[in-house]
Amino acid sequence: MTIAETKIAISESSATEVVKAAIERAKADKSHALLEIIEERAVVRAAEIDEKLKAGSDAGILAGVPFIAKDNMLTFGSHTTAASKLLENFEAPFQAEAIERLEAAGAICIAKANLDAFAHGGSTENSAYGPTSNPHDNTRVAGGSSGGSAASVALDIVPFALGTDTGGSIREPASFCGVVGLKPTYGSVSRYGVVAMASSTDVIGPLTHTVGDAKLVMDVIAGKDTKDSTTIDNPYTQPATVAVKKVGVIKEWLEDGVDETVKTNVTKMLDTLTSQGYIVEEVSLPVLQYALAVYYIIVPAEVASNLARYDGIRYGVRPESTTDLGSVYSMTRNAGFMPENKRRILIGNYVLSSGYYDAYFRQAAKVRTLLTDVMNQALETYDMLVGPTVPMVAFGLGENTQDPLSMYLADQMTVSASLTGMPAISVPLKTEGLPVGFQIIGKRGDDNSVLVFAETIEGAAV
Ligand code: GLN
Repeated sequence: MTIAETKIAISESSATEVVKAAIERAKADKSHALLEIIEERAVVRAAEIDEKLKAGSDAGILAGVPFIAKDNMLTFGSHTTAASKLLENFEAPFQAEAIERLEAAGAICIAKANLDAFAHGGSTENSAYGPTSNPHDNTRVAGGSSGGSAASVALDIVPFALGTDTGGSIREPASFCGVVGLKPTYGSVSRYGVVAMASSTDVIGPLTHTVGDAKLVMDVIAGKDTKDSTTIDNPYTQPATVAVKKVGVIKEWLEDGVDETVKTNVTKMLDTLTSQGYIVEEVSLPVLQYALAVYYIIVPAEVASNLARYDGIRYGVRPESTTDLGSVYSMTRNAGFMPENKRRILIGNYVLSSGYYDAYFRQAAKVRTLLTDVMNQALETYDMLVGPTVPMVAFGLGENTQDPLSMYLADQMTVSASLTGMPAISVPLKTEGLPVGFQIIGKRGDDNSVLVFAETIEGAAV
């Protein structure tokens, strides 16, 4: 059900009935998309919305519409664990700004979605509470780190879910689960009340059935917030500035190493665009070959800093046999973090250490600037840059868990928009088998042009 269809259902029955039905679907979920259901608070809020609707007062543009939030966003009425044992008992004293804005518009959060612990990963297999399976094939992963959010939309539990994207965590699971996943321009949505991963690329965005629904959610959650100084004016209320004619297909993203299924489906869409009169040209951007390496230096560096605060004093696992403060910290962190969290903390501290800072972090920061320049230039020549979202379809559960490098390779097409702060969206293609996502990248701040073109792809994919 789309948001519009949900609103019709609410007008024909009530917010309470629609929310209760969503909660029942959430309880019946067999893919382990959810970590906790927010039943009590959701039902109370639905009744309040119904009162308002009955009285004819303004209940908000999303009045009574149920949604699900990734469990790294602070919410009332549930725990917020970030899928880590370190936050197992944590109950948030305030809500994330994005959640507050959705509630002010009448939307109702009914559950918290599974993720890779602290959003580190691309398969939801790094969750301390077990993986989410793919709704299209339960032997495969849902993608990650917002795997639970993508699966809950694909399963039609709710019309939309919120995810976070640091290097692909909205777009990759959207591609694997066959839903729309939007990573807005960096700074579009307040990060206040989100468990930080890498502060220079973290951004909240929606997972939906349609591009139009992604825009509806962004209209509500985006815009400046005094509690997050990196926020910008809402780009979703600005007019689209580019009438897309010329499309640049990133050559490096359709070369060897990309699954045939992905290539075939993406190429088919490119042919459709050509037949519709678009100028579709290959563009080679050799600097992209360094994007993944840059990402896996910059992001672990920021992760190491952001995760330094988890000391086990106020919440989290606390080992019993501690004798001194130092071992409280080390034993807590050893017991609470998942192996992937530890790997990133180690890499991050290594690349920031005095002996290696120049060789790794400083170099990566320079290449990041170069990448931004090259992509900005390409977006002067082409109205949009396009390609696959992920080089593969959803892989098998357990297939890559012993091999972090092959896991990281799934991120090679998503990290560039993250490092450069550009808006990017994954739109599902019409496929015979497992879902494949088509990625569109636009200029920073020109999110609405990306959405307009994404609607073209959506229309052509049927
Ligand atoms: N898969 C990527 C990673 O592991 C992206 C994570 C994210 O965007 N949160 O870092």
